[in-house]
Amino acid sequence: MALRMSTLFARTLKEDPVDAEVASHKLLHRGSYIRRAAPGIYTWLPLGLEVLRRIENIVRQEMVAAGSQEVHFPALLPAGPYEASGRWETYGDGIFRLKDRKEADYLLAPTHEELFTLLVKDLYSSYKDLPLSIFQIQTKYRDEARPRAGLLRGREFIMKDAYSFNIDDAGLDDSYQIMRDAYIRIYERLGLPYVIVEATSGAMGGSGTEEFLYPSEVGEDTYVRTAGGYAANVEAVTTLIGEPLDASDAPAAHKETTPEANTIASLVDVSNELFAREDRPWEAADMMKLVMCTLVHPDGRREVIAIGLPGDREVDLDRAAGSGMLSSGEIDLEPASAEDLAKHPDIVAGYIGPGTSLEDQVLGAEGSSGVRFFVDPRITREGSRWVAGGNEAGTHVYDLILGRDFTVDGVLEVAEVREGDPAPDGSGPLELARGVEIGQIFKLGTRYAEALDLKVLDENGKTQVVTMGSYGVGVTRAMACIAEENHDDKGLIWPQHLAPADVHIVATGKGAEPIEAAEKITAELESMGVRVLLDDRPKASPGVKFGDAELLGVPTILVVGRGLADGKLELRDRRTGEATDVPVEDAVARTVEAIDAKYAELGAKRGEL
Ligand code: ATP
Ligand code: MG
Repeated sequence: MALRMSTLFARTLKEDPVDAEVASHKLLHRGSYIRRAAPGIYTWLPLGLEVLRRIENIVRQEMVAAGSQEVHFPALLPAGPYEASGRWETYGDGIFRLKDRKEADYLLAPTHEELFTLLVKDLYSSYKDLPLSIFQIQTKYRDEARPRAGLLRGREFIMKDAYSFNIDDAGLDDSYQIMRDAYIRIYERLGLPYVIVEATSGAMGGSGTEEFLYPSEVGEDTYVRTAGGYAANVEAVTTLIGEPLDASDAPAAHKETTPEANTIASLVDVSNELFAREDRPWEAADMMKLVMCTLVHPDGRREVIAIGLPGDREVDLDRAAGSGMLSSGEIDLEPASAEDLAKHPDIVAGYIGPGTSLEDQVLGAEGSSGVRFFVDPRITREGSRWVAGGNEAGTHVYDLILGRDFTVDGVLEVAEVREGDPAPDGSGPLELARGVEIGQIFKLGTRYAEALDLKVLDENGKTQVVTMGSYGVGVTRAMACIAEENHDDKGLIWPQHLAPADVHIVATGKGAEPIEAAEKITAELESMGVRVLLDDRPKASPGVKFGDAELLGVPTILVVGRGLADGKLELRDRRTGEATDVPVEDAVARTVEAIDAKYAELGAKRGEL
């Protein structure tokens, strides 16, 4: 049935929503595609649902083509499985929790690894049943700290999540590759530009993972790429340490009085003034900056740690959280509060350092403070000589060498990544860009299968833990990205195959003729399977109708108006603004031609969604 503006449940708006920051949010709201129900929670109107379902269908078709079978889980789930995996705790404030009338704990699922694992455990028991790939397109809930930008970051959103089950790692590699290929087809069919980047697994756990990012300034993810083909989320970039330095003639570490030098900049000045080097001036990168942070353990315990990094770098807590020790997601890292630091009176703010010798360490689990000490990889560069605080106001220690003068409890990727830093694979200097994460694929391995005891019998009748993959597409987020990618200052410009209608017919002018002619054309187009949105409002002005057609963004517009008296209609291309006169008798054929040409450009076909 044609959509008719006279009866369509929609009200286009002139005003942007007050909280709107990005074009997709403004235009989807003004075009009556979505309405806000609560922060980060949206109601879908007929136009919005039409576009959403088309996106879902592309995702569904590609999943099925990749051999995955569709299932559907509840969003409301008991806490048990998530307690077993540890995520009931690690998600912290990130999920919606509730209790039933019997006081039992429930949650609104943020993602479904646990439940898929249990379902397979329920039904399967032999290696012969594997490999298996199953997926759902389903509503997820996350109590995001900053729901923003409309559908880009919701607290309720639609995700396609697929899971693979294999008997061994080689099988997992195959399943992962099949999904990766399917993702490429999905984003190509959606017409969304994407970059595939190495990523970190965060709270998900597991080994290899990649993200699909839509490159855009509105994105919250920073990624890096090189001309040589390296691409990674900034959280996954590993630091190139640099060649060993010759420290054979380095003097023993020596403690010096450095008045007024309690910042990196003042320390550089004081060092150049009092302890000038012969080879070159001191630089911030020679100084070891000490940043005190607090690790929050799953049981709530707050542990103060010291982080050492070159003085010209800032700490990037998101990178730290995704790296090494923290990758299990079982601990949070935050800047140490005054209260946390008050428990360590031996830490002298502004003059913190590892100590002066191995026998006399202050930082480190073995040191006198007992405060664990982690460093940026650059600190571990062989033979590098560092200047750090002397643990006494007004003093610093020079020529500190790791291994000779101090030890550390671990190495962490904690420093910010900067434009021009060398790529870890040697492919050149890094370029920084922003993007929106539209999908992520994980080799989970056995983490969930072990926690929830998913085992099958192998060929030799021995029990084997199943190895898993998990694969997510942000469906509603993809819709926002498609709107970001396809709009101008007047409104949306949908790719033909995703638009809420194939053609937007604008009937304008006095009397009943234009509407009657438009109705006739509508009926003919419909009989050919063309989806029509007809503006048949008798009282709306031409200006209002054209404005709405531009806002709603159907890429093909047919105007039945002034020219009708001369037997002419006008076919407009919303993308280019180009208008062509067509004789009334050819209008249907020419419209179908224009529509199908746009489908073909996208490698799509009318009727396939
Ligand atoms: P982000 O880092 O943006 O919070 P995530 O890494 O936590 O996302 P995943 O757990 O990898 O998200 O979820 C799979 C996909 O679901 C993401 O790639 C993204 O496209 C989508 N998604 C995640 N959170 C949201 C959200 N709050 N609103 C809309 N889509 C989301
Ligand atoms: Mg992700």
